[in-house]
Amino acid sequence: VKPIQAVCLTDTHCHLDFHVFDDDREAVIERARQAGVTRIVIPAIDLETAAAALTVADRYPDVLVAVGFHPNDLKGWDAHSLAALEHLAGHPKVVAIGEIGLDYYRERTPHDLQRRAFREQLELADRLHKPVIIHTRNSVDDTLALLAERRSPGTGVLHSFSGSLEQAQAAIGMGFYIGITGPVTFTNAANVQQVVQSLPLDHLLLETDAPFLAPHPLRGQRNEPAYLRYTAQKVADLHALPVERIAALTTENAARLFGWSQ
Ligand SMILES: [Zn+2]
Repeated sequence: VKPIQAVCLTDTHCHLDFHVFDDDREAVIERARQAGVTRIVIPAIDLETAAAALTVADRYPDVLVAVGFHPNDLKGWDAHSLAALEHLAGHPKVVAIGEIGLDYYRERTPHDLQRRAFREQLELADRLHKPVIIHTRNSVDDTLALLAERRSPGTGVLHSFSGSLEQAQAAIGMGFYIGITGPVTFTNAANVQQVVQSLPLDHLLLETDAPFLAPHPLRGQRNEPAYLRYTAQKVADLHALPVERIAALTTENAARLFGWSQ
């Protein structure tokens, strides 16, 4: 893959606050800029990572933050959690509530607690008029059901989507975006490739989920935002369009969802 010149990519899901980046975060951000990544969203997974993410965002103008409790990290979820999130959401660099959702694959949290925390954070997002970043694994039907029952539904993204085309279309029907990560580049990813090929480009976002899910041919390595161009290239190939066009469209989509000017 050639370096992308004169394009804007947006990495809407990157855990740049994680300790695995402590030694070279500055260099990682510089490589991202060189690769055309003009904005990076760090989703928190609990209050501790929300604070860490805001510390990074305060240093870099191109880094934004989402605050929320991940379904696998609900140990600290208690009566004060929502108020703490609401307080953090007042920070000018917080653009979303996330990552929140349901994970029936790792099974680290009882399902009823996952659903309760998810529902309450969805309500908070709607009340604050912020989009949501949703983690859903082996749980897309329950996720869609909870989204459908909201009274004043806002919008958001189904991050690192791995469900069916029908499920993606149902989410898009509710105004949601579909987040595409590195696995779309894997040689054994016919399923997700078929879904991406069939989805409208005005509802796709590109994400690294770094440090996880490095794209082919870097699979297994520590992922970083500069590698987003491999995922962009794959989506471009699947849609038979130039990568510059995919970069521009997904960056416009991110700006529309998260409410910043281009
Ligand atoms: Zn994540």
